[in-house]
Amino acid sequence: MSPDAHDPAAHEALLAFDRAHVWHPYSSALAPQDHYVVDSAEGVRLRLRDRDGTAREVVDAMSSWWCALHGYRVPELDAAARDQLDRMSHVMFGGLTHEPAVGLSRRLLDLAPDGLEHVFLADSGSVSVEVAMKMALQWHIAAGRRRTRFFTVRGGYHGDTFNPMSVTDPDGGMHHLFRGVLPQHVFAPRPPAGIDREADDPELAAWAAATRELFQAHADDLAAVIVEPVLQGAGGMHVWSPHALAVLHDLAHEHGALVIHDEIATGFHRTGPLWAGDRLDSTPDILTVGKALTGGYLTLAAVLCTREVAEGVSRGEAGGLMHGPTFMGNPLACAVASANLDLLASRDTPAEVARIERGLREGLAAAAQLDSVAEVRTLGAVGVIELREPVRVAEVTAAAIARGVWVRPFRNLVYTMPPYVTSDADLATVTGALVGAVEDVHG
Ligand SMILES: *Cc1c(COP(=O)(O)O)cnc(C)c1O
Repeated sequence: MSPDAHDPAAHEALLAFDRAHVWHPYSSALAPQDHYVVDSAEGVRLRLRDRDGTAREVVDAMSSWWCALHGYRVPELDAAARDQLDRMSHVMFGGLTHEPAVGLSRRLLDLAPDGLEHVFLADSGSVSVEVAMKMALQWHIAAGRRRTRFFTVRGGYHGDTFNPMSVTDPDGGMHHLFRGVLPQHVFAPRPPAGIDREADDPELAAWAAATRELFQAHADDLAAVIVEPVLQGAGGMHVWSPHALAVLHDLAHEHGALVIHDEIATGFHRTGPLWAGDRLDSTPDILTVGKALTGGYLTLAAVLCTREVAEGVSRGEAGGLMHGPTFMGNPLACAVASANLDLLASRDTPAEVARIERGLREGLAAAAQLDSVAEVRTLGAVGVIELREPVRVAEVTAAAIARGVWVRPFRNLVYTMPPYVTSDADLATVTGALVGAVEDVHG
């Protein structure tokens, strides 16, 4: 990366306007945070400027919120975007179709769990969850059943629009702010922690009994179960057992409800297998994917469903699935997504993720000795340091940057899900910086 000419006045003006006028995620207009300015990114490195204009290169521990699987300025993805720009960047999807959308749908269905045969292309993860929930509701309505509620577990995160918010954790999410506006759904306790629990584990059995009772009490109202299989992401990086997932599948099947897997964060090998839900024999009726779908280039998500769901929805009075975003099937995003999936398939992605998992396990182990740390856990290309107290985010971020790493903690979690192409040396930099930053700031 060649350093760009730096203009201190322009840098100061950019930051001032940002503070005064630009919303950032979950941000306050009264107490705006200081942001780092990104000039460019390449490979696994971001080129940042801090407040006083000092340029630094840092290794990205976040894959830009789980998305940038191959890092930045990926030649194959750049080429796919340029190629598509030369044809068209967007056309409407009503009445028209095109190779980028069909090619991507074909690839997705090739990769999808058994039984999924139809694809709805949505513009973001939250919209795909909206569509998945709408599909489930329409499927029941079309069959003359009035089932309007969803069953989920505490601790989840499914997005920030209203229906996804309504199945996001009722305490950690924003339920209290929107009381009276959000639909009321049914929350089972969070399944006990740990992926390796046996089917007859006592804690798991107690959870299953409570969950079964709750489900049965509401069974006639329940349209679907919706969960993030095996790893809850933004709701708290909680790892849970496939046996608990099996309990939810069984309940849904017994009571005529659908199963929705939200794999927006966990899909494309992030937890090891292609889909986190692959750890179970039973497959979902509806699957949502997003985040890493375009390798972090453009916003795009998709909802996959079975033929039974698609045909059931279509038999209803509405005659079809009642959703159709303006930018549905955006050719530019679809072309890049196809190139991303081809790139994933051309590499030994499971081996890459296994290598990252080893590096995270070894590199983060030292954090378990720190007084401030409650637990260290890893699953696939995800590494988590859970503190006993809320993270002092700005300080930990600055301490990690001083060690050459970009990290964005939340609540009591300092975590990483690095690009799969991160070298062993860069991974050691990431884990060293996370452990060091936690020790510097929290002890
Ligand atoms: C990020 C996320 C969403 C929401 O996706 P957006 O693209 O931010 O709307 C939904 N579900 C899960 C599991 C996610 O991680």
